[in-house]
Amino acid sequence: MKHIKDFSLKELEEYVAGSGQPKYRAKEIFSGIYKEKRKNFSEITTLPKEYRKELAEQFNISTFEKLSEIKSTDETTKYVFKLKDNSLIESVLIRKENKYRRKMSTLCISTQVGCPLECKFCATGRMGFKRNLATSEIIEQFLVVEEETPLSNIVYMGMGEPLLNYENTKKSVEILSDIHGRNFGRRRITISTAGIVDKIYRLSDEIKSVTLAISLHTASQAKRNKLMPGLSRFPIRELLKALKYYVRTTGNTITIEYLLINNFNDSQEDADNLIEFAKEIKFVKINLISLNELPFMNYRKSTRESEFEKYLLNKNLRATLRKSKGTDISAACGQLATNIPSTQKST
Ligand code: SF4
Repeated sequence: MKHIKDFSLKELEEYVAGSGQPKYRAKEIFSGIYKEKRKNFSEITTLPKEYRKELAEQFNISTFEKLSEIKSTDETTKYVFKLKDNSLIESVLIRKENKYRRKMSTLCISTQVGCPLECKFCATGRMGFKRNLATSEIIEQFLVVEEETPLSNIVYMGMGEPLLNYENTKKSVEILSDIHGRNFGRRRITISTAGIVDKIYRLSDEIKSVTLAISLHTASQAKRNKLMPGLSRFPIRELLKALKYYVRTTGNTITIEYLLINNFNDSQEDADNLIEFAKEIKFVKINLISLNELPFMNYRKSTRESEFEKYLLNKNLRATLRKSKGTDISAACGQLATNIPSTQKST
């Protein structure tokens, strides 16, 4: 049975027209689900009774099973959801104050069960790849968490690489931001990619107004091949061209995510490479992130974090050293995983 949350408004309109109903019924269904937050067709009372029954026979509208909700001492919350095929995924809610002291609640959303890219600092990468999430499974993470906590931002940065599940990522943005439904502002949505070059071009043209973040971690091709081997088919020079295209097309600033790893990417030469890369993009800000050391890793947290940040600031770059959130509940960057094979060894 098809899931109703896999349908954009346009697709619903096509379905409704095909089933002999007036086109405006699609907006009634869409608004019932996303604006009035109805969980059963029978509750969408703008629809005729008979039609509600017909929809219930043809579509699944069910919500996720929340398996657990774990709270960190810093108020970060990790949610584990069980999917229809018993796969588990995680979403992370981060609470913090912005520079104007306004409370912000940002949800990190997953887009895949596992991830095929095998980045060496990431627990999700060690799970292997099971499958892409359906659009409805991406959206449900938002809807379930938002029931308890109003969300100020969402980031496609949980488990998986969103641009390897491009179509469903794109459709979920379209649905969540549709003015006839939830109307979540696109400027509050960030898509974070490890660097899927061809899809960055498509995103620039097709998913208007969302913010882009790139997990770079090193501007040296040789080091990136070692740290993120799944990305070696997307060379850094090509990535740079795609990021410049994004800035030119959208006028938005790009966020570069840079994990600081001891004696790997934290030298002055590494900083100079990063500066050169960032200055070519022009509209850019840099988030420096402390490495969360995991048992399977050969990498260690940098001892030169502040020095590295200062060096970038002195070269007039916008750089901020981010404090990791949720490390005590394995909800921080690189820590999300629902089943790491215990026999795997770090390389
Ligand atoms: S860091 Fe992102 S892209 Fe790399 S393995 Fe982990 S989830 Fe996949």
